[in-house]
Amino acid sequence: MNSTNDNKMNRKKYLTTPIFYANGEPHIGHLLTTTVTDVLARHYRLLFGSQNVFFTTGTDEHGTTVEQSAKKLGYDNLQDYVDMRSNYFKEKFDDVLISYDYFVRTTNKEHEDFVKNFVQKLIDAGDVYKDKYEGVYCYGCEKFLTKSEMTEDGLCPLHRPDQVIKIEEENYFFKLSKYSDKLLKLIENDTLKIYPIGKKNEIVARIQGGLEDQSISRPADKVSWAVGFPDDDKQTVYVWVDALINYLSSLEINKNQDFWQYATHVLGKDISWFHNVIWPAMLLSAGYDVPKSTFVHSFLTVGGDKISKSKGNVIDVPALIDRYGIDATRYLVLAYLPYKDDSDASFGLFDSKYTSDLVNGLGNLVSRINKMGRDVEVLAEVREYQEVISEHENILNSYEEFRLHDVINEISQLVRESNEYLNANEPWKKNDKEKAEILQNVFDKVFDIGVLLKPILVKTSQTICDILSGEMVEPSIILFGRLPKVEGQN
Ligand SMILES: [Zn+2]
Repeated sequence: MNSTNDNKMNRKKYLTTPIFYANGEPHIGHLLTTTVTDVLARHYRLLFGSQNVFFTTGTDEHGTTVEQSAKKLGYDNLQDYVDMRSNYFKEKFDDVLISYDYFVRTTNKEHEDFVKNFVQKLIDAGDVYKDKYEGVYCYGCEKFLTKSEMTEDGLCPLHRPDQVIKIEEENYFFKLSKYSDKLLKLIENDTLKIYPIGKKNEIVARIQGGLEDQSISRPADKVSWAVGFPDDDKQTVYVWVDALINYLSSLEINKNQDFWQYATHVLGKDISWFHNVIWPAMLLSAGYDVPKSTFVHSFLTVGGDKISKSKGNVIDVPALIDRYGIDATRYLVLAYLPYKDDSDASFGLFDSKYTSDLVNGLGNLVSRINKMGRDVEVLAEVREYQEVISEHENILNSYEEFRLHDVINEISQLVRESNEYLNANEPWKKNDKEKAEILQNVFDKVFDIGVLLKPILVKTSQTICDILSGEMVEPSIILFGRLPKVEGQN
């Protein structure tokens, strides 16, 4: 690796996904965020060593929505319900090879104690006061909606009308407004670096428009399934405050506090405000550094609509895995990563990408050269990830800027080049010596492709490396099978 790149990067990474509400099924939105973070974690583990990467995901288990869902399913004991839900999410993430180092649960006693202590620090800093709150609350979002977040009818654009109510109550408030200048500076000078640039500009503009203080508690008689507020048993800590603090409590619980200075949060654009404004301001108040960076991705949509449970247009994760297998599902989700803007996802789009990149591209390439390589006994030169990726600075930079769709494009370009090289040199028409020379070149290139794909195609990449280094001799290997026809297709 060259020295400029070396200096540009930290040699440690703390990577987080948001923690997810413990109700409903994991859908493609969850899959997107966790896969992005998982691929980053695997990439940096290969680059820096496993001990230098800490990756968390988990479930957000407090709040009214959770309580309502539990009641609907007939659970009297809420802890039993969240245990069941949390295990379910964990299993689903395990199914798609999400390699988290720690699975967060906000009903963990150590987390709850940490939350209380953290809120106490805000109080000690003189940043908390009690006031009357009047506003519109959405249970789906678990937050008060500002005027700009509501529809013209005063409803939530993301959730059903019965999820939205008018509320008048006493809350504790956090002096968010006090931190606007400090925050603005930290974001503008990239101390907290927000990717992509458009999402940074949005946050900067909103802070410049003025910050209102943030409600950080709810009355205990309305929201009881929550962490108690310090020294006030009539109030509970607002579920979003509780959730955000997981990013610190996870390090505390695992005695990994030194990772905080390398923190990167991966999240969807709907929760950018919480992560890029409220959370860093609370950190400053409590005496912590702000995170190093955040990656705010946009949404995968179906026919232009956000995918959400309440809209009933969810792309089912098990159906994706059934159709493409786990590795290819990971690949496809990243290929359609909504980096700057929302992007459409559908089985039709996924099918054509699967066929062009994986069946006709990579799968075909490997099976062609495997067959020919056995005839003339060629083996690839075995090389490590660090060595291979250092020769692909564009891929390294794409990782640094969270452009994982570009990582996919760059690797699939290498696959195309190898296929074109074969077609141009026609080894099947050559004598054994010439054939072996041509194949040696392709074997080395495709082995490198296998190495570069390690963070993404977790199992297939290993198979490719095994085949080409002679550890697995299977002349008729098929990496990606052809897709079964769907009803209505020609
Ligand atoms: Zn909502």
